[in-house]
Amino acid sequence: MSKVHNFSAGPCILPQEVLKQASEAVINFNNLNLSLLEISHRSKDFIEVMENARNLVRELLNVPDNYEVLFLQGGASLGFLTAAYNFMKIDGSAAYLNTGTWANKALKEAKLLGGVLEVASSKDKNYNYIPKNYQIPGNADYLHITTNNTIFGTQLKKTPISRIPIIADMSSDIFSKKINVSDYDLIYAGAQKNMGPAGTTLYIVKKSALGKTGRTIPSMLDLEVHISKDSMFNTPPVYPIYVSMLTLQWLKNNGGVEWIEGINQQKADLLYNEIDNNPLFKGTAEVDSRSNMNATFVLTNDDLKDEFDSMWQAANISGIKGHRDVGGYRASMYNALPLESVQALVDVMKELAKKHS
Ligand SMILES: *Cc1c(COP(=O)(O)O)cnc(C)c1O
Repeated sequence: MSKVHNFSAGPCILPQEVLKQASEAVINFNNLNLSLLEISHRSKDFIEVMENARNLVRELLNVPDNYEVLFLQGGASLGFLTAAYNFMKIDGSAAYLNTGTWANKALKEAKLLGGVLEVASSKDKNYNYIPKNYQIPGNADYLHITTNNTIFGTQLKKTPISRIPIIADMSSDIFSKKINVSDYDLIYAGAQKNMGPAGTTLYIVKKSALGKTGRTIPSMLDLEVHISKDSMFNTPPVYPIYVSMLTLQWLKNNGGVEWIEGINQQKADLLYNEIDNNPLFKGTAEVDSRSNMNATFVLTNDDLKDEFDSMWQAANISGIKGHRDVGGYRASMYNALPLESVQALVDVMKELAKKHS
């Protein structure tokens, strides 16, 4: 099988060795002669997986002891509602930074529970930048941010300075770079962008911040319930948690978040450099807001579309079609994507330019 350069925006590329180990566990897990898919989540073997996964999160992100790590279900999309339920007081309000589709969806869910103030929005330019110089209300219960905007290819370079707690949807850049967990009261992320397969959602929450809303919270949305049951209030998604554990182990074995941050920077530099220097392409996001995870770009001459598309397909490149809200192309460069895949894409872009120079 020839190698495919997989730039999928999500679910995304996973390390080959992880896929191999994961497939073996489907047949015979831990030499039990049983599949991971057919054993109890309360078995010693699975509890070890859960504990390992949690500990890897703690280690890789330096999670302080007063934070809890949970692996739940419902995707980041349920995280939008979960965040509001657990942090917005009964007569409270929340502040949202509107940086794109996902930020909007988060804001919409919070509106079901109370007052929501949009502190800033980049909608005026189809979300191609991260707003600056906005006021954060001191009386809101929290500020919600989306650290990486998967669809529009923008990323927050700094955590906002805020007197109120910050909640972050980090679905598409968690584990891609160092973060300071204590800047946030809650971090949540769907696994399928940078941590594992679809089906589990990571929550990292400051325990002392919970239980203060005065609300009755449905059990499945109540982070305190999940904490009290060690992420096993109901049957956890055993396989996505297992594969996430393997992926985090892969990250740790290779040098952890610091190591991958350097590689991710190299990949982004390589591609953006080509986008900026190749007359046939231009980036869609403002330079200082560009994402190291998802690079969005368009052809300067639409007539070359069919030619470019057949060239990258012939080079075994997959998954770079842009999202319908932006058009053009989007190259997602998540952790498991090797530098050589970015080089393969850059080579095709150079070849196109050479043909038309
Ligand atoms: C993909 C994505 C989501 C939605 O995640 P689901 O797990 O599909 O619910 C939310 N936020 C961001 C930033 C995303 O990239």
